[in-house]
Amino acid sequence: MNILLIGPQASGKGTQAEKLVEKFSLAYVEMGALLRKIAKEETPLGYKVNETINIEGKLVSDEIIFKVINDYLGKIGRFDGIVFDGFPRTLSQAEYFGGYLQKKGKKFDVVVFLTLPREVTFKRLIGRRICPKCDSTYNVLTKPPKKEGICDSCGSKLITRADETPEKIEARLNEFENQTKPLIDLYKKIGILEEVNGNSPIEVIFGEILARLKKRGLVE
Ligand code: AMP
Repeated sequence: MNILLIGPQASGKGTQAEKLVEKFSLAYVEMGALLRKIAKEETPLGYKVNETINIEGKLVSDEIIFKVINDYLGKIGRFDGIVFDGFPRTLSQAEYFGGYLQKKGKKFDVVVFLTLPREVTFKRLIGRRICPKCDSTYNVLTKPPKKEGICDSCGSKLITRADETPEKIEARLNEFENQTKPLIDLYKKIGILEEVNGNSPIEVIFGEILARLKKRGLVE
């Protein structure tokens, strides 16, 4: 089973992905985290990705994205049993990757769209904190660490992401509306879309996702 999670930033995709990964022993492809890792590297690719995501706040080019996904899936050696978060994010990526999976005899079995009103998205993004060392994510509003400002997993001091200033957040939300919403229409048309209200407690959302997977006969 391959699951794609789509939703505006801070709609809880990462949190739900982690829970799905744990419950069904799935692999996890989180494109944003893969790119942030590359952006820290002192290589031409690292500089380019850093400039795009942290300085310009734009989408990384398809050419780079396709290389990253090819390399990563090659490394983990599987094309099924994966939760995808943040990829595909545009129609061109969806077309490319649909063909890629098809060649491997695989597909997306379900696409879960986590909905969230824009003002809630904005508020949540302002509250988001990450660990610069182990990439764990927190939110002072919805998922605070046990000790304020400190990572539960490794004890490092938490920071705000470089692309989470109010201006960059606005730009990213516009980009979601313009680039990612067309994907939702595409997946609805082919009958694999499940829309879930992301403005609910974590366990309620997870219960709803499980119910949709069951309804589709993907899990028992
Ligand atoms: P995220 O953590 O999902 O918000 O991603 C952080 C940033 O990485 C985004 O604002 C984009 O600049 C970049 N990014 C993540 N996924 C993709 C993608 N599929 N295509 C292009 N850029 C991406």
